[in-house]
Amino acid sequence: MKIKDLVKEYEKISVFLNSKWPLKNSDHKVFARTMKIMEELGELSDEILTSMNLQRNTKISKFSRENVEDEFADVLGSLILLGIELNINVEKVMKKKIKFTRARFEMDE
Ligand SMILES: [Mg+2]
Repeated sequence: MKIKDLVKEYEKISVFLNSKWPLKNSDHKVFARTMKIMEELGELSDEILTSMNLQRNTKISKFSRENVEDEFADVLGSLILLGIELNINVEKVMKKKIKFTRARFEMDE
C-alpha cells in the first residue's frame, strides 16, 4: 500500500469519526487527535515492555506479536488522522524528511 492510498483510507475514517463524534472546531479535533496518539503510543509501549518481559507476569502471559503489530498500526493510523486535521501532505513531508535524513548522515541516494 502506498502512502497516498493509506491517507485516502484514513480520510474516509476521519469523515466517519467527525460525523460520529462531532467536535466544536478544528482546534478541538487537533487536540483530540493528539491525545489519541498519546493513548495509542502508551498501548504500543505497554506491548513492547511486555515483549521484553518488563511487565507484570499476568500481562506477559498475554503477549503476542499480533498485539504489537495492532498497536503499531493504531499509532500510525492516529498520526495520519492528526495529519489530516492539520492539512499535512504526509507523502510530501516524508519525502522531504527522508531527503534531509540522507543528507544529514551522508547516505547514498
Ligand atoms: Mg490501540
